Amino acid sequence: MKALIFDIYKGTTHDGPGTRDTVFFKGCPLECKWCHNPEGIDFSNSIWYDKKLCIGCGECIKACKNGAINLTSDGVFVNSLCRRCFECVEYCPAKAITKIAEEFTPEALAKEILKDKEYFDISGGGVTVSGGEATHHAEFTKEFFRIMKTEGVSTALDTSGFCSQVVVNEILEYTDVVLYDLKVIDSALHKKWTGVDNGIILENVKNIKGKRLWIRTPIIPTFTADENVIRDISDFIKENIANEVERWELCAFNNSCISKYEKLNKTWELKDTPLITSDIADKLLDIAKESGVKEVLCTGIIKQQTV
Ligand code: SF4
Ligand code: SF4
Repeated sequence: MKALIFDIYKGTTHDGPGTRDTVFFKGCPLECKWCHNPEGIDFSNSIWYDKKLCIGCGECIKACKNGAINLTSDGVFVNSLCRRCFECVEYCPAKAITKIAEEFTPEALAKEILKDKEYFDISGGGVTVSGGEATHHAEFTKEFFRIMKTEGVSTALDTSGFCSQVVVNEILEYTDVVLYDLKVIDSALHKKWTGVDNGIILENVKNIKGKRLWIRTPIIPTFTADENVIRDISDFIKENIANEVERWELCAFNNSCISKYEKLNKTWELKDTPLITSDIADKLLDIAKESGVKEVLCTGIIKQQTV
């Protein structure tokens, strides 16, 4: 059994309790307008290109048997003829073209993560699976978590909740902490901003019992950083899951992932979006606190409002 992993963050303190390693699975059924990991959306492996590293040698063009690469004064462009054979990656002397993800077995991934067990034990941390969407690699995630539990490592599932309840339950059997995204309750807005309906997401979260459940809401200017959006989520939590939720995080937007869009040669409509200001964050936090959740906080970079 194998899965494509596009990143492993070592020693993060943002994805659950304590110091953690976060594993990013390739492939996501959502395509959120504000996505910070656009390289993780496509389920298959692909390449990306860093213009800053390119020396314009043309070796990639010679290596590509499919005529999929054009070199212009603006750098390299990979067109739709690309068959993802990754020959160009092997021949690029500057590592300007690289593969986005690498294949792992659950055992190989476990071996990599166990290198950091000492840090997990000292800090009360563990491993978090994210993406992309880990629940869409259900068999792999379940087996990986099973190994982690056998080795005494705490497990956290970071999920959009967009998957079948059966799948969630199977993974939850080996999960200690659930980081669950609630982005917007209005289903039309959810579809408009993420590409999918949120019916199954709202149902799945109601069925999570007896786990450390952390809700996460990205607060994005002109999208979810809106009093009505946060009030709707606050009401939903209060009515349905307040007793189960340990913490609700409002995750402040930043546009630091712009270079990822550039490397994928994709335009991003949020590239000039400003940071959330402290007065807006404070207002949203006040509304979120009405949910009855004990710990409500704002994470990420907040621009201090100077009067
Ligand atoms: S991955 Fe293969 S087909 Fe695609 S651009 Fe590189 S060499 Fe060409
Ligand atoms: S082989 Fe690498 S460095 Fe040379 S032109 Fe292609 S991407 Fe640029």
